[in-house]
Amino acid sequence: MTRIILLVLLISVSVFGNVVTKQNWKQGQKFTNYLQSNGISLDLLKSLDELEKQVVGEIKGGQVFYEVKDDSGKVIKVYIPISSTLQIKISKNQTNEFKFSIIPINFKEDVYFGNVTIKNSIWSDIASHTHNNSLTQKLQKALKSFSSKIGKGDKVAFLYSQKSLAGLLSGSPQILIVKITKPNKEFFVYIDEEGNGHNEAFESVSYVIYEPIIGKQTIKKTNENNNYKSKLNFVYPMRNTRITSPFSNGRYHPVLHIYRPHFGTDFGAKRGTPVMSVEDGVVIFVGSEGGYGKTVKVKHSGGYMSLYAHLDGFRANVGDNVSKGEVIAYSGNTGTSSGPHLHLGIYLNNSPIDPMSVIGGESSSVGYILDKVSDAVSTKTYETKKIPIPNAIKHREMINYRLNTGVQTYDWIDDASKRKLSENDLE
Ligand SMILES: [Zn+2]
Repeated sequence: MTRIILLVLLISVSVFGNVVTKQNWKQGQKFTNYLQSNGISLDLLKSLDELEKQVVGEIKGGQVFYEVKDDSGKVIKVYIPISSTLQIKISKNQTNEFKFSIIPINFKEDVYFGNVTIKNSIWSDIASHTHNNSLTQKLQKALKSFSSKIGKGDKVAFLYSQKSLAGLLSGSPQILIVKITKPNKEFFVYIDEEGNGHNEAFESVSYVIYEPIIGKQTIKKTNENNNYKSKLNFVYPMRNTRITSPFSNGRYHPVLHIYRPHFGTDFGAKRGTPVMSVEDGVVIFVGSEGGYGKTVKVKHSGGYMSLYAHLDGFRANVGDNVSKGEVIAYSGNTGTSSGPHLHLGIYLNNSPIDPMSVIGGESSSVGYILDKVSDAVSTKTYETKKIPIPNAIKHREMINYRLNTGVQTYDWIDDASKRKLSENDLE
C-alpha cells in the first residue's frame, strides 16, 4: 500500500511540478498565523500600506482560496479572493522573498446552450436535464409569465453565461435568451438585466411593456416585501458627519500599476463620536480585525451586513439585537488609520458594495404595491415603460445558430472537482 502511494506521489510530482489546491480559510484563522504556519516571513506585513492592511481584514472564515505548492510541498504562492473582482496574491520575488500584491481575479465567462423537450412538466424536465438548481431558478424567473403557455412536446432552448474561476463555478448563471418552439409557433423570451423575461424586442434593444396601475387616483403605499425595506432604509452611521474617502471597488493606480480597493466609506469623526447601526440587525462580531482595528459587524435581513472599523470603544455585544440608529460603538483611530475616522463597510451576500448606494435611499420610489382605499373608485390605467434588453439581437442570432446547426447536446461545465487546477487559471 505504502509503495503504491509513493509511486503515485512520484508520478504526480514529476509530471505536474507545482500543484494548485483549493482551500477554505479556517474559521478564526489570523492572517499572521497563516503566514507563520506556512513558513512565510512576517516581514511581508511590514511592506503593506494602509489600504493593503485593511484588505487583509476582508479575508473571511470559510472562504475559498488557492495555494500553489512546489515539489517539496511548500507553499510558494497564495491567491485569496477579497471581492468579486480582486484577490490578494502572495508570491516570491526575484530575491526569494514573499511579496504581497492585489491583482484582478482571472474569471472566465462562457456561454452555454441547452435545449429541453418537455415530456412531463416544464420545471421537472428542466431540472432533471440541467442538474443545476441555480440555473433552473433563473429560468423560472425568466419564464415567469410564459410557463403556463409551455406544454408537453414543446421545446425550451436557452443560452446562459456562467463565470468560472480556476475551473470552478463562480457566481450564478445569467440567462441570455430563451426560445420556445411549439408545434405551430415559436417565440423568443428576451431577458433584461434583472433576469426577467419579455416577449418582444426591437432593434433599439428595448422593449415596451404595458404596466397596469390599479387605483391610480387613490393610492396607499404598502411595502411589498422586507427586501425592499432593508435595501432602502439604511441610515448614516453618525450625526453631522462628512465623507472623507469614498468606496472603490478596485482603484487602479495608473503610475504604480497597483490596485487599491477601498471597501467602504470613510466618515470624518472625532475620537469618541457615537457610531450607530445603519439598520436593524444582530451584532455578529465585536473585536479586532487586521487593519480595521477595533471592529463591530452587524448582520441585517436581505443578505446585508455592515462593518464599523477603527473604533475606539464598543457599546454592543455579540448577539445583541440592535435597532437602526442605536449607538453600538464609539469612533476612533485603531488599526491602520491615518487619523480618527469611521470606516463603514456594507456587504451584500459577503461582497462589498458602495454604502452610499443604499444609505439615505427613498423608500417611496421602488417596491410598493398600490392598494385602493375603501371608498375609492377602482381605476385601471396602463403605463408604457421601456426596458433595456442588452444584446437582444445578438443573442437571438446566437441561439438560432445553435439550433440551426443541430447542436442538441448540453455543454455544461465538466465536473469541476475532477478538473486539475492550473496556475494559469488564477491570474
Ligand atoms: Zn476606509
